[in-house]
Amino acid sequence: MSEYQKVISISNNILKNYELCDYCLGRLFSKRLHLSSNKLLGKKLKKNFKFTQKCFICKNLFDNLNYFLKIMIDSASNYSYDTFSVGATIKPSIIDRDDFIRSQYKLMGIDSVKSDITKELGKSFSKKTKKNINFLDPEVAFLINFKDESCKLRSKSITLSGRYVKTLRGIYQKQKSCMNCNGKGCRTCFFHGISEFDSIEGIISQFLFKKFGGTTAKFTWIGGEDKSSLVLGAGRPFFVKIQNPNKRKSKLISLNLDSLKLVNLKIIDKFPIKPVKFTSSLELKISSKNIIDSKYLKKLKHLVNTPVVVYDKSGKRFEKQIFSVNYKKHSLHNFSLFLNAEGGLPIRRFIEGGDIIPDISNLLNCECICDEFDFHEINV
Ligand SMILES: [Zn+2]
Ligand SMILES: [Zn+2]
Repeated sequence: MSEYQKVISISNNILKNYELCDYCLGRLFSKRLHLSSNKLLGKKLKKNFKFTQKCFICKNLFDNLNYFLKIMIDSASNYSYDTFSVGATIKPSIIDRDDFIRSQYKLMGIDSVKSDITKELGKSFSKKTKKNINFLDPEVAFLINFKDESCKLRSKSITLSGRYVKTLRGIYQKQKSCMNCNGKGCRTCFFHGISEFDSIEGIISQFLFKKFGGTTAKFTWIGGEDKSSLVLGAGRPFFVKIQNPNKRKSKLISLNLDSLKLVNLKIIDKFPIKPVKFTSSLELKISSKNIIDSKYLKKLKHLVNTPVVVYDKSGKRFEKQIFSVNYKKHSLHNFSLFLNAEGGLPIRRFIEGGDIIPDISNLLNCECICDEFDFHEINV
């Protein structure tokens, strides 16, 4: 008996007892016969049978594919993308009946109803929209719930890199989270996780949401600054990941506001895995109640030879190198310090002291305050 004849014999046996749709019947044997269309095979195997009832396994789920195709198209209407995948949640009873038939007729190596229905939907959707199926790394993923006939869409995040130049004092670098959801995203904040847009983070986020849509924007900054700091030169590099973007491409991109300039903004493949090493050229404005002694100021040049030892809150020790030191005395109580230093040196602590060796107050033998500090250049 040929393989096909064996299949006909099992199929006839099944059909005597159970009514199955073309898709479900074909699915039971298509792999075995190396055929790609379950529907055609099922139709062929059923040609001598007359049916009036619903499919024992799926209750004619496959008849409804056009309806689900339509809700997929509707839910994707605000997204631009090239690739997609389809996932499904189906009633457990369907899976149970499918398992029952397989075990009763000892059928093995068969696609599940779920993978068949997602395959069929994927094929139809691709034909209709000219988008490509990609199950490994899709730009847009549909999850169809056959239980409540709904469709969820998740769009893959995009990552951008760029630099910002801050030319106005008084703007925080980071935005406070939405009070209602603590940054997770809720209806109040339109799922952005922030509800105000008055910081560097907020201004950039707002700009990106306008360009790409999306829910939250997660930033990685190459270093940090104070509200009162300026960031000059080529600006501070940053990376940002936009979750659930509607658009994935844009001819970027620069933004030029009074307070903030965005430059070199571009879409990149992924977030940097390792922490990015960088150096900063800084100007620190320092003042002291006591008179600053020039004899001590001269000693600051020695900072270049020895690393600064910093202890973090947990007591962990790390070192930061200073590459160059210059200063300019403005008055008996004020001077500017120009540093080129390894990124991550805690600036205020370095001036005012606190779990850091050496610190400027100590070296100058007087209590110093860091009034403000500006970044002239940040190099990665
Ligand atoms: Zn069926
Ligand atoms: Zn919120």
